[in-house]
Amino acid sequence: MSLRKYKEKRDFKATPEPRGKKLTSDHELIFVIQKHAASHLHYDLRLEMHGVLKSWAVPKGPSLDPSVKHLAIEVEDHPLEYGGFEGVIPKGQYGGGAVMVWDGGVWECEGDPIKAYQKGDITFHLYGKKLHGAWKLIRIKGKANDDKTNWLLFKLKDKYASKTKNIIEAKPLSILTKRSIQKIAEEDG
Ligand code: MN
Repeated sequence: MSLRKYKEKRDFKATPEPRGKKLTSDHELIFVIQKHAASHLHYDLRLEMHGVLKSWAVPKGPSLDPSVKHLAIEVEDHPLEYGGFEGVIPKGQYGGGAVMVWDGGVWECEGDPIKAYQKGDITFHLYGKKLHGAWKLIRIKGKANDDKTNWLLFKLKDKYASKTKNIIEAKPLSILTKRSIQKIAEEDG
């Protein structure tokens, strides 16, 4: 768990994103999902682990349908305070585009989170504003801490699962500011 790659990729004189320091905490583990209108719109799932946010870019976003498994590409660890970041990364900078805090709250891992991450099989529970219940991340390609490691993200069957509700379309706005991604781009860009 390290922020080295995070810092290497960014010019903090040019981007409003947090510089980041590694924080340790004894509080509940936070999670955040950021909607990110970079060159390709995607959703960044971030789970607090060991003082950083383990991060996955999910091009199609989360689905409440347990039979739908979406690709989740592991990306560099992010600092904990990134979970509160909403705004616009300038054009030409790494990940340039608008970022929205789409969902967030606390998460719980079944078993030890680090062991589950290393194993590539994380069963977890989300207590967010939009997402709830049991979810799974399974590593399908690459090794722990590799760049460009592919995982699958999917909902497990419980009362929060749904075959019909499209959560992305039903709840498109920021949980922080109730803004759309277009509004964030206009106001903060
Ligand atoms: Mn992103």
